[in-house]
Amino acid sequence: MGTPGGGYGMGQYRPGGYDPRDSWHSNWTDERHPKIKTMMATYLDRTNGRVHLAEILGAAGKKQTDLPTLPQYVHPNGRPFLCWTNVLGRCTYRECRFHQQGGHPNPKDITDDFADKVIDTLNKGILTLGGTGTPGGPPSKKQKVAGEEPQPL
Ligand SMILES: [Zn+2]
Repeated sequence: MGTPGGGYGMGQYRPGGYDPRDSWHSNWTDERHPKIKTMMATYLDRTNGRVHLAEILGAAGKKQTDLPTLPQYVHPNGRPFLCWTNVLGRCTYRECRFHQQGGHPNPKDITDDFADKVIDTLNKGILTLGGTGTPGGPPSKKQKVAGEEPQPL
């Protein structure tokens, strides 16, 4: 009875080949912190991989100076040179001025503590902009057992 798998039901036409919108993360060694990766996933899908930090900060009601810094990525004069595009997504700027100063961080420099602070600062902005963010804010070490969740993930 009926024909299963008509193909058009989901309203998404994929022409069999390569969706160019996927290309921003192709050939990418994604070394971001897993929590940051989770927070940014939907946002980056929507922006085609672009990180508009000012937009996220604005939506979160924050300033760039509210973001945490890493001592390894701050000049002696106090000016941070960490490449936020690279922390939050994929920096594809060929002449990234932060990269030129060594501001593409080593993944092991992005600590849990740092990631939590980033999420604290930006998650609200991501949610405001229609992203999924990190559900329930920064995840704690111990997951609370909630009895009211209809669909635990
Ligand atoms: Zn960069």
